[in-house]
Amino acid sequence: MSLASAEHTGAGQTAAEAIHVENLHKKFGELHVLKGVSLSARDGDVVAIIGGSGSGKSTLLRCINCLENPTSGTIRVNAEEIRLKADSYGNTVPADRRQIERIRSKLGMVFQNFNLWSHMTLLENVVEVPVHVLGVPRAEAIATAERLLARVGLAEKRDVYPAFLSGGQQQRGAIARALAIQPRVMLFDEPTSALDPELVGEVLKVIADLAREGRTMILVTHEMKFARDVATHVVFLHNGVVEEEGPPDQVFGAPRSERLKQFIRTVG
Ligand code: ADP
Ligand code: MG
Repeated sequence: MSLASAEHTGAGQTAAEAIHVENLHKKFGELHVLKGVSLSARDGDVVAIIGGSGSGKSTLLRCINCLENPTSGTIRVNAEEIRLKADSYGNTVPADRRQIERIRSKLGMVFQNFNLWSHMTLLENVVEVPVHVLGVPRAEAIATAERLLARVGLAEKRDVYPAFLSGGQQQRGAIARALAIQPRVMLFDEPTSALDPELVGEVLKVIADLAREGRTMILVTHEMKFARDVATHVVFLHNGVVEEEGPPDQVFGAPRSERLKQFIRTVG
């Protein structure tokens, strides 16, 4: 099968919307971090978010998975709009805790420092949420976990504790754990930036395989070549604003804004 880009960009008009973000603002006190960000991902899209340090990439992902509450704007996940309300201090907070759990159950999260639980074996890490949060029967969860661990190349490591795994193995384990909830969308926040250079490739390969299978994902990355290869759409965030976006060949091959040109020169 060919790589996702062409197929999914083409199918984009008809595929269902998985994530929709509109005019999102996020302030931390006086610091206005996201200033009206909009983006969406349809089923099968691989949206790469690029941008300099401090541009708001992590904050954007954290708003999507409800780890941060937006100051204003709209976020829909799995066609469900996150409902927010103001608390007695005027801060935005979730209007419905159970909705937050429902939305999180649709999102598989892999973050730079989202480490495996150190007191559990790899297999236990992968079955934990399906069994204890989602109520999947244990035997079924174990069968799924074994299949996922095999898929990320860790079948032999199922009974090993994270401390005995390399960083690349731990991150592949974290990907298996995220997949175990059968998420509609995978969210990656710089999944390889904490890894030693020689371990980056094995993790990118797993992510590329998921993209090739047509899995929907939003991926924050500093790996520009990788973003160009796997993404169906690239969003360049600068100072909390979507400065430029488009298909990877356009964003990387024919950038229009000076800021994007400069960014590509410095990181590429
Ligand atoms: P990126 O991921 O693009 O490097 P972040 O989203 O992590 O950027 O951060 C954007 C800005 O928001 C930075 O200036 C950061 O210091 C600030 N920030 C992030 N999280 C918080 C927080 N919880 N409280 C205060 N400021 C924050
Ligand atoms: Mg970040």
